[in-house]
Amino acid sequence: MNYHRMVEIGFNVTLTKDIDASIYNGTNIQAGVYNPRVFFELDHKDIANKLRSEGANVISFHFPELDIFEPEKLLRGLEIIRKHYKTGLVTIHPNAGSYLEARVLLEKNTDRIQELDVILAYENFERKRNKRWMSCADTISTMPSPVTGLTYDTSHVPLNRDILADIQNAAPRLRIVHLSNATKGEGCTQNHKPYEEGSLDLEPALKHLYHHDFKGQIILDYNTDEATKLRDFEKLRNRFRAP
Ligand SMILES: [Zn+2]
Repeated sequence: MNYHRMVEIGFNVTLTKDIDASIYNGTNIQAGVYNPRVFFELDHKDIANKLRSEGANVISFHFPELDIFEPEKLLRGLEIIRKHYKTGLVTIHPNAGSYLEARVLLEKNTDRIQELDVILAYENFERKRNKRWMSCADTISTMPSPVTGLTYDTSHVPLNRDILADIQNAAPRLRIVHLSNATKGEGCTQNHKPYEEGSLDLEPALKHLYHHDFKGQIILDYNTDEATKLRDFEKLRNRFRAP
């Protein structure tokens, strides 16, 4: 199928050893494993084969909880991702630590990460939650490391944040948009809902990505069942189909 637009649409899939890959036939996925211990226990050769034989296209990987503060472990993980899933675009979470420390360690390991041909697309988080070295999307713009980029998560921002402005400002480093909606209010926050169901107005950002021919990935990052992800994947893919 021919897509004029360069954007790739996909959705998040958590890998398990018994994954039923058949439901992902003909789709694009950001494969992921949240827990590093579980990640290193899985048989990635087997899982990647299952996905491939069912026609699921892994377009990036979500490898959240290992940061550059544990460089050897991180690099071991990246090597596995590269080897079995054939993707070099990896979303990771900034862990606790200082910006400066992260910068030094990224510099020290740049050659090895470049050898693997990997981009670490760091994900933004709201500052109040934790002591991550990066919270705002702006932070990554000041990180000079050529092996880093941004995964912008629309659920990880305060209610009144201007998502369109964030996306415009981050454009040069923006590799992935984690798209989902949220209901945010007094004492209750529900994140990672279907992109049309919540209090965030995502339309301006989506229109912008469409009209400016975004060359990265839009990944539906949902806490829903797989059927809902598949439904919205089809919907969004049709929307971004040219012209
Ligand atoms: Zn996310």
